Amino acid sequence: MTTAFRPPRVAPDPRALAELGTRLRGTVISPGDGSYESQRRVWNGSIDRYPAAIARCVHASDVATALAFARANGMLVAVRGGGHSFPGHSVCDDGVVIDLSPMKGIRVDPERRTVRVQAGVLLGELDQATQAHGLAVPAGIVTHTGVAGLTLGGGIGWIMRKHGLTIDNLLSADVVTAGGELVRASTTENADLFWGLRGGGGNFGIVTEFEFRLTPLGPDVFAGPVFWPIEDAPQVLRFYRNWVADCPDELMTIVVTRRALDLPGVPREMVGRHVIAVTACYAGPIGDGEKVLRPLKSFGRPSLDLCRPKPYIVHQSTFDPGFPHGWWYYVRACDVAELTDDVIDIVADRGQRIVSPITGIALWQMGGAVARVGDDETAFHGRGAGFTFNINGNAYSADGFDVEREWVRDYWSALTPHHTGVYVNFLMDEGQERIRQAYGAAKYDRLKALKRRYDPDNVFRLNQNIRPD
Ligand SMILES: Cc1cc2nc3c(=O)[nH]c(=O)nc-3n(C[C@H](O)[C@H](O)[C@H](O)COP(=O)(O)OP(=O)(O)OC[C@H]3O[C@@H](n4cnc5c(N)ncnc54)[C@H](O)[C@@H]3O)c2cc1C
Repeated sequence: MTTAFRPPRVAPDPRALAELGTRLRGTVISPGDGSYESQRRVWNGSIDRYPAAIARCVHASDVATALAFARANGMLVAVRGGGHSFPGHSVCDDGVVIDLSPMKGIRVDPERRTVRVQAGVLLGELDQATQAHGLAVPAGIVTHTGVAGLTLGGGIGWIMRKHGLTIDNLLSADVVTAGGELVRASTTENADLFWGLRGGGGNFGIVTEFEFRLTPLGPDVFAGPVFWPIEDAPQVLRFYRNWVADCPDELMTIVVTRRALDLPGVPREMVGRHVIAVTACYAGPIGDGEKVLRPLKSFGRPSLDLCRPKPYIVHQSTFDPGFPHGWWYYVRACDVAELTDDVIDIVADRGQRIVSPITGIALWQMGGAVARVGDDETAFHGRGAGFTFNINGNAYSADGFDVEREWVRDYWSALTPHHTGVYVNFLMDEGQERIRQAYGAAKYDRLKALKRRYDPDNVFRLNQNIRPD
């Protein structure tokens, strides 16, 4: 959908903007520039905001300069890594977008098994660089998601049950603070800040570079989806519940209900049909994976089985076709402790009632290594969750979007008696109480104290905001 151009309400002094342009090594884009329209866009097509300036940073010093400019001019600051915030927090009306996407440096040290990653790197780019050495950072499941925002919220993905969350593999972060200082955070330097960065989102500063521990993986893994017709969902989910109850940490699964997409390998007659799929990834020897997955693959009568040995990098892009840039996305999320009969009935019933060909849910299996890190060790909350729901109501454009949003809200409400928490990176703009729930009261208060220390003026407020006051 094209929208009429709406100039920003608060335009900075053009001379100041021009001066910012001369002080950056990167570029400044403002309304009227040829690339403004494409550069103001984020992944979620339903977000339509008009910043006064987009500072495309190529270096940490650019970040500090752009931040100082915004503060001096009393402008709102949005920080953009991969631009995948569901509620669109990385773009704002009228303010300055500090765009880190040009910062693409990746330095792998195969001897030390570490990698330094700049803040504009996407997950697929990180996988490409690390898998070249047979190594990996545990991260997310869609290749065009940003490393930065994903890491700062926690980072869940295909190998987390064996190797932990993304933050459990974070060794240090270089940060531009609200005051414009460049500091390093790790367990030995600014340890309080390091604690807050591991789950506290972008509340405490702008991370310009991350350092992660690497883990050997692949290059092949036993992985992929097995599909059944949605009518089989009650039986599939009951079998699944028992099967994963005592599975090894190497196994990670995500249950999906949706209408089958038209993709290579999907028979024509299945396209558009309502399905339930269990997608798996076994982070261990192929032969062990084949053995562990055999019961799933032979349960009932699968309509399609694409679970087999494949390069980890190929598996990492399995979900990409369902989440391209520009579609309209709405999400609600919650954690649940277990798949009770009631939860199963909700999943089976709501799965049959999906209207949009691109709407669906992802029900994430949690536990394993994630649950073995102490809850107080990082700002991330919810390590004890059994499963995490991501309920996605999607439309190609504004057409039909309201219906999808209603389906999502209704689904989420039906699960209310089972909610135990929520993953902060799956929140929309749902208000302060939900952010508090995402962290739990005690952790929220600790984060608030940290916010008062590192960002008392709440410069970094376009996020799941921890208010300093
Ligand atoms: C298609 C899709 C797939 C996803 N899959 C997963 C998944 O597998 N696992 C998972 O854990 N999550 C997943 N998520 C959720 C994802 O972790 C969050 O949306 C995350 O915020 C995206 O990060 P980003 O850098 O792309 O987003 P952005 O929109 O750029 O940023 C998100 C937030 O982080 C802040 N931020 C970004 N960069 C920085 C920085 N360098 N310093 C300080 N603050 C910063 C922004 O200001 C904003 O508030 C997915 C989201 C989408 C849309």
